[in-house]
Amino acid sequence: MTRTYRICLLPGDGIGPEIIAEGCKVLDAVGAKHGAAFSRTEALIGGCAIDACGTALPDETLAAAKAADAVLLAAVGGPKWDTTDPEKPRPEQGLLGIRKELGLYTNLRPVQIFSALAGASTLKPEVIDGVDLMIVRELTGGLYFGRRERFYDEEGGGANGARGQRAYDTLEYREYEVERIARQAFEAARKRRNKVTSVDKANVLETSRMWREIVHRVGAEEFPDVELEDLLVDNAAMQLVNRPADFDVLVTENMFGDILSDEAAQITGSLGMLASASLGDGVALYEPSHGSAPDIAGRGIANPLAQILSVEMMLRYSFDMADAADDIRRAVTEVLDEGWRTGDIKQADTPADKVVGTARMGDLVAEHL
Ligand code: NAD
Repeated sequence: MTRTYRICLLPGDGIGPEIIAEGCKVLDAVGAKHGAAFSRTEALIGGCAIDACGTALPDETLAAAKAADAVLLAAVGGPKWDTTDPEKPRPEQGLLGIRKELGLYTNLRPVQIFSALAGASTLKPEVIDGVDLMIVRELTGGLYFGRRERFYDEEGGGANGARGQRAYDTLEYREYEVERIARQAFEAARKRRNKVTSVDKANVLETSRMWREIVHRVGAEEFPDVELEDLLVDNAAMQLVNRPADFDVLVTENMFGDILSDEAAQITGSLGMLASASLGDGVALYEPSHGSAPDIAGRGIANPLAQILSVEMMLRYSFDMADAADDIRRAVTEVLDEGWRTGDIKQADTPADKVVGTARMGDLVAEHL
């Protein structure tokens, strides 16, 4: 029997509508092969929502997202909506708003090298050979959400007793927040190579000492089959470029994860290839890691592969369709191995007749399915 999944599509701005169309093409191809159907509703988010409704996250969009089994987003933003006026709506408010409203506390960012694209990395081929890691970042706690204040310190103080501005941000975690992100990391590792590296700063920070203790308890009690190691964040930053192929799943708090996931993304050298998933306890959201690329919007040349790989993640994490997800990855790998490239990933030796546009790249992946 064919199972039907409901997907809320949020094309957003810039290249968003172009690349999400290719994601849908691949969804239909993989569904036909693996006995699933995907019904879709489309809603506004970001700049297009500001134009139509005056807000980046209209109520109808949130309702459509909550009613779906998963949300597939493309990208938001563009120069048209850039403003420094705090009173004006901004496209990113749509993204932050939907993450908060759906309670998406986990961000998964896989980093994988397609061997056909190894030349795009700034690292040596022997260092990046076999890289296949996943950053699991806590997304709704820690330093970015703690108490913060900036004020003028009349009393003065410090080494020279001078009066002046003072500011602080607070890094706080609660036990349940660490437990649930640890579980997500261990679960992800079970679907991969069974190894978790927990990244903290336990030699300095009390939150990190608690983090480490809780991650070890959750691991020992619920995931004894998964290998667990600890790494201090400064060392992790070095090891990510030194021996990236040794990592499977890295789990870490919000700010460390923000920084390390961008560092890890650069290992591949191809922004147009990186997908991400944001998970909570309900509906999850899948999107490319790149933005709306306004400089190339509407020209049919954007790379749809990060969007297609976010469909792969959706099948894997929301619908438990690992075989179908593997199939998409195989199809993308084959298309790249055959030498097909969009403009952003073409190399100096790519023949002109192998450079294709957005829709053709989507067709190729669908054909390989
Ligand atoms: P960007 O990722 O949109 O673009 C950076 C560069 O990469 C550009 O040259 C672009 O053409 C290229 N690029 C990105 N994706 C591509 C693809 N799929 N195929 C081919 N080339 C691609 O980042 P930016 O230029 O800093 O930001 C543009 C807009 O996107 C801004 O308004 C920004 O706020 C927004 N943004 C949105 C998200 C999101 O929706 N999650 C993330 C980052 C930036």
